[in-house]
Amino acid sequence: MTERLYYDDAYLWDFEGQVTACRKARQEDRWEIALDRSAFYPTSGGQPYDTGTLSWEDGETPVTDVEADRDGEVWHTTDREIPAGTAVRGRIDGARRTDHMEQHGGEHMLAGAIWEKLGGTTIGLHLGQEESTIDVALPEERTHLTEEEITMLEDTVNSRIRMDAPIRCWFPPAEELSRLPLRKPPTVAEHVRIVAMGDFEMVACGGTHPASTGRIGLIKILSVIPARGKARISFVCGGRACRMFSRYMRCADKAGAALSCPVDKLSRAASDLKSRLGEAERKLNQFETREVLETIAKAEDHDTLPGYILAAVTLPEMNARAVAEAVSRYIAQKKKILLLITGERLTFGRSADVPLDMGALIRRVGRGGGRPDLASGAGIPECIGVAVKILKTEGVR
Ligand SMILES: [Zn+2]
Repeated sequence: MTERLYYDDAYLWDFEGQVTACRKARQEDRWEIALDRSAFYPTSGGQPYDTGTLSWEDGETPVTDVEADRDGEVWHTTDREIPAGTAVRGRIDGARRTDHMEQHGGEHMLAGAIWEKLGGTTIGLHLGQEESTIDVALPEERTHLTEEEITMLEDTVNSRIRMDAPIRCWFPPAEELSRLPLRKPPTVAEHVRIVAMGDFEMVACGGTHPASTGRIGLIKILSVIPARGKARISFVCGGRACRMFSRYMRCADKAGAALSCPVDKLSRAASDLKSRLGEAERKLNQFETREVLETIAKAEDHDTLPGYILAAVTLPEMNARAVAEAVSRYIAQKKKILLLITGERLTFGRSADVPLDMGALIRRVGRGGGRPDLASGAGIPECIGVAVKILKTEGVR
């Protein structure tokens, strides 16, 4: 069983150990190395593995994955074989681990505050590349939080972070363990490791934690959405939260400059702009609809099909909404037949009093279909001429 050095010192980036076993990994050209002692954290409890290097007298290899097996052996995936018995030096990527500890520590603080303030039970943690999520079972099966609750949770956790309370991890004897006020019962029966963050949070956890709450830095809740009957809370902590703040500020500044308004007036300016744009689009649609109707009127032919008015129209590609509106207005009149192509889109329509199946007609000259009075599809401009010829030959019946 590998001695886990991170239990005693979560900031140990550099350590010495000895290879106890070496085996071929499932991936080609990869090896799995077991050590007598290791500071590398293996993926567990939602916290991803550490990366880094293993080096020895005449070599070095990156560590690209770390997993623990059921017997408690920690296996380091490497590019090179290292024979059992070799003395090695392990180096951890401290920036990656620090980031993981900030997110993981923040998750503890958030779960503790949710339990204390809202009576919610946190089910699982997923620490992602961009943001982390927890699923929370809330009383009365609520699956959302109000804006006030989100602000309250953030304020509670951030003020506790600023208090810089010590974070302590230890393995209590059974008698002590039974008396501890844990947030939820441990999932393992033996070697239960406890983490206590000031007086705010106490729970069983085998993960790595910052030395004090202050080193979590900051928490920001990003979203709360329903997920499988729970509330799924996304958040970022520490350096990630600071970087996100900078990124959002840059976006907000640029948007403010584009809309010529200060950042705190952005949402008002954006909604004003949206409603003005909606009004302009409505006017443009009306204008274009009128234009299409005028073009159709110019193309009207009263002679080809006596008793009916046939309009065969070719238009360039244009606003589909305006075309649809013009077509529906045109065929709302009496005795009209419309064969229209815009770009490559065919629209055949007729008034309610014309006994023609436009869906069948469109299928004879191009691709598509639809209702007897209104059909659409795709074709080439020549389709219109072919359809006119069919109507001339077969008439309206
Ligand atoms: Zn933990």
